[in-house]
Amino acid sequence: MKKIIVAGGGHGGIAAASLLASRGYDVTVCEKNSAGKLGYDWTDIFDPKSLAEIEMPMPAADKYEYKEHMTFYAPGFHTALRQDIPQKKLEIKMERSDIYAHIISNAEKNGAKFIYDCEVLAPITAGDRVVGIKTSRGDVYGDLVIDACGIDSPVKRGLPKMCGVNPEVGKNNQFYVYRAFYNKASDEEVKDKYKVCLFAEGKLGIGWVATEAAHTDLLIGRFAPFDLDEANRTANYYRSGNPSLGTDLVRGGQFVKIPVRQPLSKLVCHGYAAIGDCAYMTVPIIGSGIANSFRAARLLADTVTADTDGAYSAETLWDYQVKYYKRLGSGFAVLACVKEALTLFTPDELDYLFDNGVITAKDMSIDADTTNIFDIMSGNTFDSYKTKVVKVVKDPKLLKKILKVGRKISGVMAATAVMPRQYSKTSVDGWVARYERAISAEL
Ligand SMILES: Cc1cc2nc3c(=O)[nH]c(=O)nc-3n(C[C@H](O)[C@H](O)[C@H](O)COP(=O)(O)OP(=O)(O)OC[C@H]3O[C@@H](n4cnc5c(N)ncnc54)[C@H](O)[C@@H]3O)c2cc1C
Repeated sequence: MKKIIVAGGGHGGIAAASLLASRGYDVTVCEKNSAGKLGYDWTDIFDPKSLAEIEMPMPAADKYEYKEHMTFYAPGFHTALRQDIPQKKLEIKMERSDIYAHIISNAEKNGAKFIYDCEVLAPITAGDRVVGIKTSRGDVYGDLVIDACGIDSPVKRGLPKMCGVNPEVGKNNQFYVYRAFYNKASDEEVKDKYKVCLFAEGKLGIGWVATEAAHTDLLIGRFAPFDLDEANRTANYYRSGNPSLGTDLVRGGQFVKIPVRQPLSKLVCHGYAAIGDCAYMTVPIIGSGIANSFRAARLLADTVTADTDGAYSAETLWDYQVKYYKRLGSGFAVLACVKEALTLFTPDELDYLFDNGVITAKDMSIDADTTNIFDIMSGNTFDSYKTKVVKVVKDPKLLKKILKVGRKISGVMAATAVMPRQYSKTSVDGWVARYERAISAEL
């Protein structure tokens, strides 16, 4: 029986473990946390349809609720854009601990094994093939290592250069986040229960204040690290406009990182496949990664199953990358350019875009099925495009920036379109170089 090791209990890794165990593989997940202690003390939002793709049932009805519509505020707080997403397309909100409990119990039912309190330290390689992992509990060998160790995976970082997997996350490609639930300081009815503030106080980043029944959820996200003093100062800033945000920390209160960039340029090498945050599978402009990790798990499990010889070489695993990019990755690479463009706008420019109808509520109606720029643009009519163009043309500096973004997006789309369908080292190395050049083109 082929032995598969999942390094780290990331969502995609557990989902892949579940599918592969159900298909008769010997699968072991090595996770550094103790049993029942995975994840963070907060809720997450994700597309429930992704559970069906990993052959898992919906969680019990009392474990989730539907997400609130978000209201986006530009830096000057003059214009608020409220999402308008039909109820049936909404994502669900669940405690992260319940998401983990759900997927782990299903994976275990299918025969996947979990080793907890087991820190993964490095890959074990033989030439350019990954043959196992070094862990705090000893070396573990397998036919395939699935890397689900998150953004800073020691497996990915330890791969020899000849594997061609680039572990550098890159500047402005990770979001430093402080998230905490505070007591509810006011029972006043709140109109916009889920406020998302862009570049509040002129700082590059976002914040949200979500008023829930039992607490108020605060998230502060920046492109550079910050400390608790700064988080507390910013929390006070939000308190002035949100009386429901109290000062008693009731849950969370951690600093974490989210990748917000194009997917990894090479997801596989001999004996190795990356998934989830390790492979940067989040939607780059909003940082959601759970559903995409599930979808990727299905693609990976199908690719592994199709390799009936059990070679798990770069050649046979490459199909996972091709399918991932076709379904999600190419769209995310373009959204990574949009995210980069947002970091270049000044707060005044963002206000102008919001105040003058260049960015509208329809553009912000990002839902569970938004995976590329066309989904975002699809809500616009001919007239709304005309308004956008007229307003942008009036501001030559802004127009120049937007034209540059358009050029970069075309370059990235052209690069993803020519990804080799079959693996050969020369063609894949050439493609990776082209893709990375297109993505790093200066704006
Ligand atoms: C504040 C915040 C809010 C978010 N909200 C949402 C949301 O609402 N919806 C959504 O879809 N996504 C959200 N995300 C993103 C989401 O968490 C990830 O995209 C998703 O979990 C996929 O990442 P992952 O599971 O692969 O990686 P991770 O979540 O980083 O999991 C990696 C796992 O590997 C383990 N691990 C790491 N290193 C080692 C090691 N050396 N040895 C052993 N084990 C190791 C970790 O303990 C962890 O269990 C949010 C992220 C943050 C930080």
